[in-house]
Amino acid sequence: QSLVQMLRDRATGDSAEDEAVVELGGERVTYAQLWDRATRVAGGMRDQGIRPGDRVAILSAAGVDWVLAFLGAIAAGAIAVPVNTRFAPPEVEYVLADCGAAYVQRAGQSLPEGDPFCVEPASSDVAAIFYTSGTTGRPKGALTTHEAFLSNCESSTRDRTVLGPDLRTLISVPLFHVTGCNSQLLTALYCGGCSVIMPQLDIALLIKTIETEQISVLVTVPAIYAMMLNHPSFPDADVSSVQGCGYGGAPISPDLVHRIKAAFSQSTVTNGFGMTETASLLTALPDEYAAEHADSVGFQVPVIDLALYLMDPATGVGELLVRGPNITTGYWNKPERTRDAFVDGWLRTGDVARVSSEGLVYIVDRAKDVINRGGENVYSVEVENALAGAPGVFEAAVVAVPNERLGEAVGAVIVSPPGQSADPAAITAYLDGRIADFKIPQYIIVSSDPLPRNPGGKILKGPLRTLTDWGER
Ligand code: ATP
Ligand code: MG
Repeated sequence: QSLVQMLRDRATGDSAEDEAVVELGGERVTYAQLWDRATRVAGGMRDQGIRPGDRVAILSAAGVDWVLAFLGAIAAGAIAVPVNTRFAPPEVEYVLADCGAAYVQRAGQSLPEGDPFCVEPASSDVAAIFYTSGTTGRPKGALTTHEAFLSNCESSTRDRTVLGPDLRTLISVPLFHVTGCNSQLLTALYCGGCSVIMPQLDIALLIKTIETEQISVLVTVPAIYAMMLNHPSFPDADVSSVQGCGYGGAPISPDLVHRIKAAFSQSTVTNGFGMTETASLLTALPDEYAAEHADSVGFQVPVIDLALYLMDPATGVGELLVRGPNITTGYWNKPERTRDAFVDGWLRTGDVARVSSEGLVYIVDRAKDVINRGGENVYSVEVENALAGAPGVFEAAVVAVPNERLGEAVGAVIVSPPGQSADPAAITAYLDGRIADFKIPQYIIVSSDPLPRNPGGKILKGPLRTLTDWGER
């Protein structure tokens, strides 16, 4: 099986005349048209000298042309390399050089055309290189095979009736990351549904589109849910078409989970945890658990195995290891990073976790964000979640602050809501009794600037650690 065969099956089967991709403010394309046009792009790429295994970088804006460039490159047997369109020129150059792009599809540039053409890839062939979000360092290119893509589609749709031919999913997150491309676009193609793509994030339009496009499934990151629920037009919006809400990609505060459940009370609400290196989904939290276990990422999907590496027997916390058909075979051009990423054939996720006796997985923190306060582990995410409810706190990030006596102390950067201010003493008093004393931030900085985030809404802690002047305490 390959993505090429999957698309051809849809285009020549029952879905042929169904809408496959809709670009807001742009074209609407059926499955038959998508296949016809993607294979023409493949023919055009072949005519331009692209050979199987060559890398085709895609810098187009999210929309029909992006999808055609991606599927066309794969139909030509090339390796598609989606590039982060928010990168500055030197960052783009880094990725283009790193992947050794033979062809670059730029924004606004017309797609190559020729006679229709497609290869018949093996399931073990690499279809794409997805670059990680760069939350903890330079993005790394994860090799993704046809099998990895299809296994993710299979495990995402299994037992989920909302993911069938009637699916209408709204893509508000970038297509150059796995949530948008794999968990939405490819999963919708896999089940014969329709992807509605927003070329640019626009919260008012997103809210309106739910009604105008009769969206049945919303998948997006916590930061976008928060913006949506806080938007003045949300209370009057008709969101009754939504039957499934998915969130993931970054830690979420239980408080926000409860707000999503209340706002979409007619819909299921599901957390999904995954990584670029795993073609997306690793665990999912079913709706019936979302309220009571809002701090969990749920149960492992059936195709993977989980283990905890160097688990602390006292707390049951260790680094999460995963293994399965959806896991990357390695990083492009980075043999050392690849070697470090695996232990005995298991991928190190870089996340520390614990697993309940029931099998619920709890991501405790990123291994790199855990604060070692004089030998005591403090998980930044736990402190951030406690801070989420504190007076005058709009958002918060918790990082290690170098400390002579403790090695590392707990520091928090607090952003207060517009027009309000936060009082560190009141925050500390609020936390007292809610979390252990040693977890209460010793340093609190109140900032009026929003926290630095990447496009997925993840807080970039690197700049906070290095640029913040913590002062004395
Ligand atoms: P980089 O690897 O370049 O530092 P990144 O890890 O943020 O960046 P991605 O592959 O996009 O790049 O993100 C995967 C990570 O996102 C996971 O390892 C985990 O830390 C976090 N994550 C994803 N989904 C969830 C979720 N549902 N809850 C909590 N964290 C999540
Ligand atoms: Mg990562």
